[in-house]
Amino acid sequence: MTTTNPIPFLDLVAPHMELKEELCDVFRQGLETAGFIGGPMVEDFEQRFAEYCGTRYCAGVGSGTEALTFALIATGIGPGDIVITVPNTFIATAEAISQSGARPEFVDVDPRTHNMDPEKLRDYLERQCCDNGAGGLIHRRMRRRVSAVVPVHLYGQMADMDLIVGLAEQYGLTVIEDACQAHGAEYFSEQAGGWRKSGSLGKAAAFSFYPGKNLGACGEGGAVTTDDADLFQRVRMLRDHGQSQKYYHDMPGYNGRLDAIQAGVLSVKLNRLAGWNEQRRQAARRYRDLFSEAGIELELPHEASWSKAVYHLYVVRVDDREALRKHLSAAGIGTGIHYPVPIHLQNAYGNLGYLPGDFPVSEAAAKGVLSLPMFPELGMDEQARIVDAITSFLSASHHSEMYFVAGR
Ligand SMILES: *Cc1c(COP(=O)(O)O)cnc(C)c1O
Repeated sequence: MTTTNPIPFLDLVAPHMELKEELCDVFRQGLETAGFIGGPMVEDFEQRFAEYCGTRYCAGVGSGTEALTFALIATGIGPGDIVITVPNTFIATAEAISQSGARPEFVDVDPRTHNMDPEKLRDYLERQCCDNGAGGLIHRRMRRRVSAVVPVHLYGQMADMDLIVGLAEQYGLTVIEDACQAHGAEYFSEQAGGWRKSGSLGKAAAFSFYPGKNLGACGEGGAVTTDDADLFQRVRMLRDHGQSQKYYHDMPGYNGRLDAIQAGVLSVKLNRLAGWNEQRRQAARRYRDLFSEAGIELELPHEASWSKAVYHLYVVRVDDREALRKHLSAAGIGTGIHYPVPIHLQNAYGNLGYLPGDFPVSEAAAKGVLSLPMFPELGMDEQARIVDAITSFLSASHHSEMYFVAGR
């Protein structure tokens, strides 16, 4: 093979070089005012991010994990509660539930979107839960209160929120969106009568601004969005040691604030988010066209008709993933796996008592998913090289049997 430039899985340098001057201004302003914690840069970003998501309020916090944890605690979830989520997600979704004191329980995902399957949620609520006689829902066997559901908008595509919110209303559950991979993703809600942004369809939502996310800080950051004024106030207290007024603490809280320089960075980048998301969508369309021209059968991301995904990740599924990954790596192409072990089979959650086979769709996904390079600056030529490399691997005779036939 000739010496061609490697194609990274993610290019975090390019966008920062493009915005270097604006970002340096933010750092300079931070230094000159020494306003590192709280203050106008944080409030300005919070206001603008709430507006972007179509919610009334946004509270900046220290990370996406904290955003989820605080949102759960602020809605009254704690020890004794069950919170339902999916096994096919980043560990932080389950950690936030545990950290609120609740027990995570799982329902499987849809095989095409890899997001929460509303039918599996219905099944769980109908079969494993019952009324506690006082209008609440409890788990039949554990006799614990089932209080919330956390759908994850994985890979940049929203879960089927109308169905999930509908079930939650029917059973009296709170919906907290894990929107950590879905800044700007949209969902066509029949219930709301139009397209809605992620973060605006539950009681509250959690966003992460980890550097590699679609909207990333130059460090750690996160936010809770909500329309609920009381919940918003409680999150603001939780992130700041439970105080409503300096040194008057109404509840035990956390040190979980978003720092001002990160908020300033995020405001600069928020101006670019819609454009970057559109570039990601174009790159996804190019992948689809290139794979279909190559005539190979590979399971590509499925975008439902009610969804405008923002392709935080571009995840395909193959049979012989490890071999393909090696082949791509030898060709200088970076890839990722999101995620190799579903949460219910992680050592950290062994105590929950789940077994292999409990969530077959998530377990099959964990074995076959491969994330291809995806970032706004990804170009046509690079994508053509990626698709060529995959095609040559898959057309080699001993790899000709596909795991799954391309979904439409
Ligand atoms: C990144 C991420 C989180 C956690 O965000 P941090 O900012 O890293 O704490 C939670 N859930 C999902 C699905 C994520 O991708």
